[in-house]
Amino acid sequence: MKKIGVLTSGGDAPGMNAAIRAVTRKCIYHGIEIYGIMNGFQGLIDGNIKKMEVGSVGDIIQRGGTKLLSARCDEFKTAEGQQKGIEQLEKFGIQGLIVIGGDGSFRGAKALTDKGFPCIGVPATIDNDIAGTDFTIGFDTALNTIIEAIDKIRDTATSHECTYVIEVMGRNAGDLALWAGLADGAESILIPEHTDDFDDVVDRLLRGHERGKKHSIIILAEGVGSGIDYGERIEKATNFETRVTVLGHIQRGGSPTAADRVLASRLAAKAVDLLLEGQAGRMVGIQNNRLINHDINKILEEKHTIDMDMYQLSRELSI
Ligand code: ADP
Repeated sequence: MKKIGVLTSGGDAPGMNAAIRAVTRKCIYHGIEIYGIMNGFQGLIDGNIKKMEVGSVGDIIQRGGTKLLSARCDEFKTAEGQQKGIEQLEKFGIQGLIVIGGDGSFRGAKALTDKGFPCIGVPATIDNDIAGTDFTIGFDTALNTIIEAIDKIRDTATSHECTYVIEVMGRNAGDLALWAGLADGAESILIPEHTDDFDDVVDRLLRGHERGKKHSIIILAEGVGSGIDYGERIEKATNFETRVTVLGHIQRGGSPTAADRVLASRLAAKAVDLLLEGQAGRMVGIQNNRLINHDINKILEEKHTIDMDMYQLSRELSI
């Protein structure tokens, strides 16, 4: 293999730049030409492809977002779109592709691999909702952004003696809510994987109030429902002033944490190794701090699971 391509696709995640840098430098280290594909699969169809040099990825390891830009591209879900993509790759003489993104992006990588074009997936999504890896690139940074925001909200919550409902990202996976809740000592954590009893949430708030607690924090993953609606219900049931903060897109941005930069560098470099070994249709991941790789088909069939022991612990610590 003499020429490799790399793209970022789907929702951006902090650490994608560190991954692009690692792919680029690892390829150059091995004497392989590396091509950056702009705008995800859309740029692939359009042939928006440029050769990367060592300097192309300088000064990006600390930046959020993705230098290669990302896009959602419905045309790539069709066989014609995928064929156009393969034609562009062949035009540039690219023989393997590294796809940095979430499970949607991996479906694109799988489609190309099924058509005979070798792809390797690198999991990057703040939600941590991919099976077969303990962590995805961007999760740690988003988590720390949430913690920083909650710490600030906590100051004001204490001063005003009120309940705060904080809605965080996570449509299908409650990892951000769970980790943030445990890290910040939230009274209740609401995640899509577990239906929480509303009365129990209210009881916890009332018990805390009786003990003289000045404020309470409830963290709700967006997949559970609207934080605003939930806040209204809580206020009605407890009579405590309740405020709602929807953290939204600030969770996506920002400079990646050291953990995300290291994870991105390790996973992305491993993806290059796999292509050079002649592998295809694999996703790299990390389990128990060891780099592993799985059949991408298996990853797409499996569901990411949340650590329910951690959930139980958070309940025990917020009696
Ligand atoms: P993420 O990778 O973050 O999960 P999306 O689900 O939006 O993001 O997917 C990103 C892109 O991957 C889509 O816009 C599309 O170009 C491509 N993609 C998604 N699903 C498929 C599919 N079934 N076949 C081919 N390409 C797909």
